[in-house]
Amino acid sequence: MKRKINFNAGPATLPEPVLQELAKATLQYGKTGTSVLELQHRGSAFGEILEECNALVHELCGIGPEYEVIWLHGGGRLQFCMIPMNFLPEGKVAAYIDSGQWAHEAMQYAAYYGDTKIVASSRESGYAHLPQWPARLPAKAAYLHLTTNNTIYGTQWHDIPACSKPLIADMSSDILSRRHDHSRYAMFYAAAQKNLGVPGVALAVVHKDMLRKAARPLPPMLSYKAQAAERSVVNTANVPGIYTALLMLRWTKQRGIAAIEKENTAKAELLYGQLDKSRIFVPRVSEKAHRSQMNVCFTTNDMAHEQPFLDMCARHNIIGIKGHRYTGGFRVSMYNAVSLADVAALVDVMREFEDLSPSPLLRRGR
Ligand SMILES: *Cc1c(COP(=O)(O)O)cnc(C)c1O
Repeated sequence: MKRKINFNAGPATLPEPVLQELAKATLQYGKTGTSVLELQHRGSAFGEILEECNALVHELCGIGPEYEVIWLHGGGRLQFCMIPMNFLPEGKVAAYIDSGQWAHEAMQYAAYYGDTKIVASSRESGYAHLPQWPARLPAKAAYLHLTTNNTIYGTQWHDIPACSKPLIADMSSDILSRRHDHSRYAMFYAAAQKNLGVPGVALAVVHKDMLRKAARPLPPMLSYKAQAAERSVVNTANVPGIYTALLMLRWTKQRGIAAIEKENTAKAELLYGQLDKSRIFVPRVSEKAHRSQMNVCFTTNDMAHEQPFLDMCARHNIIGIKGHRYTGGFRVSMYNAVSLADVAALVDVMREFEDLSPSPLLRRGR
């Protein structure tokens, strides 16, 4: 059966070459006589997978040996817990920029472990734009947490101002989607199921300076320092998930970050361009400088359009555009594996839908 054009927010579509490699490795990994699903987490084959993964993260993010690359279980949310566990000691406060649901949840999780402070928020206005960058941070701030791309609301930080405290970024939904200066972060992390593969795996990249100041004693599973020392194999690692991340990293390198960024910009221009001139579809984020290139959220001027538009998309083999349950409407996620042609196919359906829909004047007359 033909593959769907898949705009799901995560788990997201994967490139076909990656799926083909994965299918091969599922039957037999290299010359091991075993499947990648059976590969030993302390064996040499997996050791090589990890080493290549780590080298590619360093290379693609443009960071030096002062950063540790760590692969963890538990997706994004376990990072929401591990960050304060490791980096928020008593007597300090964790500063959070509240720019969307994930950012908010990250802060709520941190509150289990210590004092938190929202230093900027756009929650009052339904996260329809980015909040103002905080003019100053509490002197006691242990770190500032930022979500670079707000997956549910479709906003993204394109310019990240200077920060006087260690900056920790959740890049789950825009990692490796653009050229970016990663060396300004004390830590950045990403759940894998958007630009890095499959659910359950998280990538954490931590500056070694951070590992020197453990906030509290922790079991090795939950300690970045111990995980780094054990090369991400404190327990049975998610071998197939990390192998999928390797295939994604290789695919990313082959295309090149600059080329990926260029295509992502073209995709966003095409879709926002259509939304901005539409008489039916309404972009959720009006401030152009705040718009996400990864997740494009929109509604219609009449709820009655929603189901017919979804149905029309389904007839054109397009899935995954229903908005998040918090926002309703539509969300089109255009991670690296979504091509410009995929977005063009969607835009064609939007045009057709508009052509077939009677103009509001006509409908009023009926
Ligand atoms: C998808 C996503 C997460 C994911 O979390 P899980 O716990 O793996 O479901 C976290 N943060 C952001 C910004 C995301 O987009």
